[in-house]
Amino acid sequence: MNQRALTDVHAHLAALPTLENGCRVSRKLLKGPFGRAIMRMQGMDPADPEGSNQRYVENLEIELKCSAEVSRAVVLGMDGVYGSDGLLDDGRTEFLVSNDAVFAACRGRDCFLPGPSVNPMRRDALDELERCKALGAALIKTLPNSMGFNPCLPGFKPFYQALSRLKLPLLSHVGYEFAVIAGEQMFGNPELLIPALDEGVTVIAAHGGSSGLFVLERNLPVLLGMMARYPNLYADVSAMTLPNRVRALFQLARHPEVFDRLLFGTDYPIPVFAYPCLAAFSLSGYRAARSAPSRFDRQARVIREVGITLTRDFLDLT
Ligand SMILES: [Zn+2]
Repeated sequence: MNQRALTDVHAHLAALPTLENGCRVSRKLLKGPFGRAIMRMQGMDPADPEGSNQRYVENLEIELKCSAEVSRAVVLGMDGVYGSDGLLDDGRTEFLVSNDAVFAACRGRDCFLPGPSVNPMRRDALDELERCKALGAALIKTLPNSMGFNPCLPGFKPFYQALSRLKLPLLSHVGYEFAVIAGEQMFGNPELLIPALDEGVTVIAAHGGSSGLFVLERNLPVLLGMMARYPNLYADVSAMTLPNRVRALFQLARHPEVFDRLLFGTDYPIPVFAYPCLAAFSLSGYRAARSAPSRFDRQARVIREVGITLTRDFLDLT
């Protein structure tokens, strides 16, 4: 793996709804602190959704191209909440980034890999997996806490079998979710991913499989045990410089036996912080990470400074 070969397996597409793009965002999310911060950082304006959406994609592309170490990003969609009838529940869907918007953003950009999102509760879930595969999906993203489903329901077995047959890795959020409004936090329990692993799906547990609960890190021992049992289980290191996940980052650094199962990721547009370098007693690393013009390089530097060596890239999995 050469120095420029890193892939960010976890970069979000954000999009305001237009007449054609099939995206949705609730007023609550748009007006809340998270929504307002993203809009401000990305220079987006609800009065100009088309221009804002274009700007977001360009911002991501420019920052990626500034990176010395990361040359590609999997650009993620976000499916909505579905009722027991398998139809989209508009009232409970706070945020939806459609798969068509993901494929449109990736078209003509070699540095983007499409990471569409399919809620297994949707009536046409299997058809949508086939469609996404045919369009070149690199993986399928889910966020069970916000999408309102329990990943271990027996009814999802055909969904996991299809992922396995289509060789589509599943990138699933793990732990508590604070950015996008969450319905049921227990759906972020890593053990709920066991049925997918049992079907042979390549599963990537997001955020190092951490709980996201500051010092109350309960998930990591569970994830490490699962990694020992399932060679098809990986974890990304996205969002792990955030204060609520940084403890797990240092814990992961003490387990070199799983370094070859860790994949690079940032959770773009979430910020990446340099301060973990200080906790690792590296002032030079902190300065270098802080002054990195791209958060992709900042993340790569912090991961190294805390003692984690990434030996595998997402492209090795596909
Ligand atoms: Zn994310």
